[in-house]
Amino acid sequence: KPVTAYSEQEASEAAIALRQTLNQWSEDYYTKDNPEVEDHVYDAAYRDLQELETAFPSIVTPDSITQRVGGAVLSGFTKVRHEIPMLSMGDVFSRDELTEFDQRIQKNVGHPVAYNVELKIDGLAISLVYENGKLVQGSTRGDGTIGEDITQNLQTISSIPQTLTKPVSIEVRGECYMPKQAFANLNHQQEERGEAVFANPRNAAAGSLRQLDTRVTKARKLDTFIYTISTFDDLQVKTQHEAIETLEELGFMTNPTQRVCHNLEEVWQYIDDYQAQRDDLPYGIDGIVLKVNDLKLQSQLGHTVKVPRWEIAYKFPPEEAQTVVRKIEWTV
Ligand code: NAD
Repeated sequence: KPVTAYSEQEASEAAIALRQTLNQWSEDYYTKDNPEVEDHVYDAAYRDLQELETAFPSIVTPDSITQRVGGAVLSGFTKVRHEIPMLSMGDVFSRDELTEFDQRIQKNVGHPVAYNVELKIDGLAISLVYENGKLVQGSTRGDGTIGEDITQNLQTISSIPQTLTKPVSIEVRGECYMPKQAFANLNHQQEERGEAVFANPRNAAAGSLRQLDTRVTKARKLDTFIYTISTFDDLQVKTQHEAIETLEELGFMTNPTQRVCHNLEEVWQYIDDYQAQRDDLPYGIDGIVLKVNDLKLQSQLGHTVKVPRWEIAYKFPPEEAQTVVRKIEWTV
């Protein structure tokens, strides 16, 4: 039945059940790197919980998955505190919702804005800290505040520079992913050895990065795209587009597909272009990301407890099935 037909008591009970299910799926996904269900199934259940909590704000609990960044820290790794939290990202699944996002932004800042549009790489977020141009620490997102120190594992990835082209002290963030070919080879090897295969490249990348034996990580052929400068030193950067150009100049691997879009027509064009090429790309993408290009406007817009207000992911429909089949029933 529609959320509006629920009594508060019914909504609260349904939310508790949904949170339990989502917490279990999150643990399988983030901690065990072995998802129980496909992303679109998780996303649909998350949406149901969000709708319930929006309709009945009194049932929201601070530990609800809608109020925190999913993810956990494995014991065995040293913990790293992220001074600037590594947040999650809001997502939308239709062009109407993307239009609403744009309208919200325009209302908030009082005028139309340009967006830097990027591919949403299907991997996991990493943070890299450089002091005077030297890599000193690399970590996972973890729960957003505390991540895992995986410096040695990240040092095995050839696209991550040990030394930058300038002696700057900065923190950068980006995505670590497993290329499609490396994923196919890895699963082939796993099968030959009679070992479990990985569900998808994202989980294979996460499992490969969080290895206590650095040699295993090295053999897994991981790669990176870096897209965020989170502390700037004295770099003269005013937009997200410039940030990516600067990252490239510093020696990072950046994704060449970023495009500044001045209106939604240009955004639709970008979506059409890359949705069509999705299968031909050598890495997995699960959508595109719209980021307010002006960094000053970004900080003016700020963030909620979980997501920045200045960016949004538009997720592509699931690859195998165009219609969402709910494999698992839940109560809403
Ligand atoms: P998310 O992965 O949907 O989006 C945020 C992340 O996008 C960032 O942390 C970053 O790592 C990544 N990203 C990729 N390209 C980027 C770019 N160009 N710019 C900025 N960021 C970029 O959000 P999340 O909180 O990490 O995870 C939630 C999602 O994980 C869910 O929507 C669901 O699809 C999936 N999930 C699935 C299961 C399951 O059981 N299948 C369980 C939990 C979560």
